[in-house]
Amino acid sequence: MAQFDSSQMKKIGVYASGGDAPGMNAAIRAVVRTAIQRQLAVVGIVQGYNGVLEKNFIDMDLRSVANIIQRGGSILKAGRCVEFMKPEARARAVQNLREKGIDALVCIGGDGSFTGANLLWQEHKIPIVGVPGTIDNDIYGTQLTIGFDTAVNTALDAIDRIRDTAASHDRLFIIEVMGRDSGFIAIAAGVAGGAEDIFIPEQPFQIDKTIELIKRGVARGKNSSILVTSEGVKPGRAYDLAENIRKHSGMLATVCILGHIQRGGKPTAIDRLFASRMGSAAVDHLRAGLCDIMVAVQGENLTTVELSVCLKQKKHVNRALIDLAQILSN
Ligand code: ADP
Repeated sequence: MAQFDSSQMKKIGVYASGGDAPGMNAAIRAVVRTAIQRQLAVVGIVQGYNGVLEKNFIDMDLRSVANIIQRGGSILKAGRCVEFMKPEARARAVQNLREKGIDALVCIGGDGSFTGANLLWQEHKIPIVGVPGTIDNDIYGTQLTIGFDTAVNTALDAIDRIRDTAASHDRLFIIEVMGRDSGFIAIAAGVAGGAEDIFIPEQPFQIDKTIELIKRGVARGKNSSILVTSEGVKPGRAYDLAENIRKHSGMLATVCILGHIQRGGKPTAIDRLFASRMGSAAVDHLRAGLCDIMVAVQGENLTTVELSVCLKQKKHVNRALIDLAQILSN
């Protein structure tokens, strides 16, 4: 694990980067308040790596983070910064950080943001601790990322509402949830929502099996079915699935794409709690001279994982849950 001399550390910076996620504000609040409690100054960096390059810095105090724990999004914004992928931009970023007196950073984001953070340490020895924040839950080494629980609950609420309609009209519905490369939201919301079948990007459609499942349900007197799919490479995968089912069975499915409503909203208690714990732990790890790590959730506890490890490995969805969904939909 990477270490640095934290005895002279006086000021830290905090930023959110990549896609925003509900609970990021709770993490920002925890970083700011823990740091101030520990006699450290804190600078909020607006819009991730863009803010470092544009010197968009805000000196934070205890009141800067008042009344935000319940709010979705990020008061420091988030977002992408393509320029940061260039070494010259990162060198400029370091100059700006040094000019502002920032000795270390807390980065709240996903894989991409951590790649940038890892490079800042490797190339310029800027100490950084990462806090996993993405609704997709696709970061290796942590069971939970900030925003995932809220996104799942938002999707679940929609599934429950659609089921009312599906049952009243004897319909087949396909609900598309977020997740480009990963099916964590689909699996969690699908199983919790009692979906008949679940489709994830990691696995191709098995249309015959799905049609068989729906037909068996109908034969047993079931009058409605709900399928859940993640969006995959581009939103609209549910339409391909509906067309496939129509072609192979003549059954018509109604498609509902949940889209960005899953990104916003009040964070759940779980997201607020873990975000608060992880944000606070990140500051304490920096104080202890530890860096180039991500704070992670394992069971009830927090742990740490080296950034290089979580960036190298891929987290896999639990496929047993897809089988479980099918068993339980009988
Ligand atoms: P996330 O952090 O949610 O995975 P992105 O993949 O969009 O989101 O990454 C967020 C930002 O992190 C990017 O816009 C860029 O500034 C930085 N980043 C991503 N990949 C790299 C990289 N290979 N080198 C340097 N910075 C990167």
